[in-house]
Amino acid sequence: MARPRLRVIPLGGIGEIGKNMMVFEYRGDMIIVDCGTKFPEEEMRGIDLIIPDVTYLVENSHRFRAIVLTHGHEDHIGSLPYVLPQLEKIAPVPLYGSPMALAYARGKLEEAGVAQLADFMPIEPGQKYKIGHHFEAEFVPVTHSIPGAMLWP
Ligand SMILES: [Zn+2]
Repeated sequence: MARPRLRVIPLGGIGEIGKNMMVFEYRGDMIIVDCGTKFPEEEMRGIDLIIPDVTYLVENSHRFRAIVLTHGHEDHIGSLPYVLPQLEKIAPVPLYGSPMALAYARGKLEEAGVAQLADFMPIEPGQKYKIGHHFEAEFVPVTHSIPGAMLWP
């Protein structure tokens, strides 16, 4: 039998500023880290906001376990109101993050009327959280221009 491999798939945020979203897959579990938007360049007239293409998540939603947020900036949480409705079939989707990041996320989701699609899971730095069957997350506080920023090792 082939050894299980960790797959890491960026759906945004690599080679660009914004739209941060990284898929981690291991065995039958899939999670994403961050769910951000990107603001359009000047030449993208008529475009208000750029969000990641989450077709891959929707097609594999039976394996989707959680969204993990590193912090509450727009380029890390801004797409939540657009992505969560696409995952409605498996809602409420566990949403892990610092209390501050979750407060920002909740505000955006309530404004869009879709807060019930998320299961808010506030984390504490240094604690370990089991996500799905195969992932364990520990959040490490980092210095950034917003309180409650975490690195996810
Ligand atoms: Zn930031």
